[in-house]
Amino acid sequence: MPHDIENHSHSLLPSEPELKVKAIESALVNQGLIDPAALDEIIDTYQNKIGPKNGASIIAKAWIDQDFKDELMSNTMAVLEKYGFYGRQGEHIRVVENTPEVHNIVVCTLCSCYPWPLLGIPPTWYKSDEYRSRVVREPRKCLSEFGVKLPENTNIRVWDSTAEIRYLVLPMLPDAFKGFSEQELVGIVSRDAMIGTGLIGPAK
Ligand code: FE
Repeated sequence: MPHDIENHSHSLLPSEPELKVKAIESALVNQGLIDPAALDEIIDTYQNKIGPKNGASIIAKAWIDQDFKDELMSNTMAVLEKYGFYGRQGEHIRVVENTPEVHNIVVCTLCSCYPWPLLGIPPTWYKSDEYRSRVVREPRKCLSEFGVKLPENTNIRVWDSTAEIRYLVLPMLPDAFKGFSEQELVGIVSRDAMIGTGLIGPAK
């Protein structure tokens, strides 16, 4: 299956636009026009706060509304389109549900295909050669390095994304969060939990 042509991370040198952005950033920082910490904060916002919130809102709704979940699982694109979470890098998304028997984890072994409208920009590690090769060969070990320890009898299913199909993991909701409001639940869904490299943390 073909992967994103414009989104490859195989090359050793950054693409020309990346080099230009780096050059502009360096010039602005050197002249004291921007604060690198503020820049990091902006990038972090897009990577970790805004983007994954879309996916988190879908996950939270699926947890509390069985009809919505059924529709999401069986008619994914229609549901996502209704919420406006579609378009570039999100044309065909499949939701895979974690259960006590199966833990799902997503990778793109060839490049970095990722459901942008739901999760924002892929993290650097998702695009790394190491993650892309190791998660397929030794998923359990890889997961443990992300701090995810699964029971031995939980099977791990690795989904290889392509430009044609991308995946969103529907994490399990721990019992401690049962009874929480939809809004509260949105706040506990991490980006990594929707990639499969994280779990939903304990209630605080
Ligand atoms: Fe890809």
